[in-house]
Amino acid sequence: MAYDDNNVFAKILRGDIPCRKVYEDDHVLAFEDIEPKRPVHVLVIPKGKYEDATDFGENASDAEIAALHRAVARIARDSNIDGTGYRLIANTGANGGQEVPHLHFHMLGGAPAGPMIKNQ
Ligand code: AMP
Repeated sequence: MAYDDNNVFAKILRGDIPCRKVYEDDHVLAFEDIEPKRPVHVLVIPKGKYEDATDFGENASDAEIAALHRAVARIARDSNIDGTGYRLIANTGANGGQEVPHLHFHMLGGAPAGPMIKNQ
């Protein structure tokens, strides 16, 4: 499937709509989720046009992949959620419940995330 240039995170990356930026480098942008589910809810995205985790893992450069994970660690430290812990989620595709078709990691901290996932 072709990458959708009109998805909301593509618009944020282009500066067409604002975000509350938490972190940025050459490969990564991180910003606060607009509907936070925990006291800390940050979305960490690659600047490249990657639809989901599969696309990213197959097609991103080593530098892009490293940068995304380095950013998660740095944001965890800077947001003071490293000690108490956080949940890192990448909803992927229909069964994963992904709504925005641009890869994003949710970082959820500041309060317990609860059980991992409900049984079917
Ligand atoms: P997902 O269901 O994993 O695709 O998550 C999409 C997330 O994007 C949700 O948690 C939304 O609250 C968040 N979101 C949607 N639009 C915006 C926006 N303009 N700024 C920040 N977060 C957003």
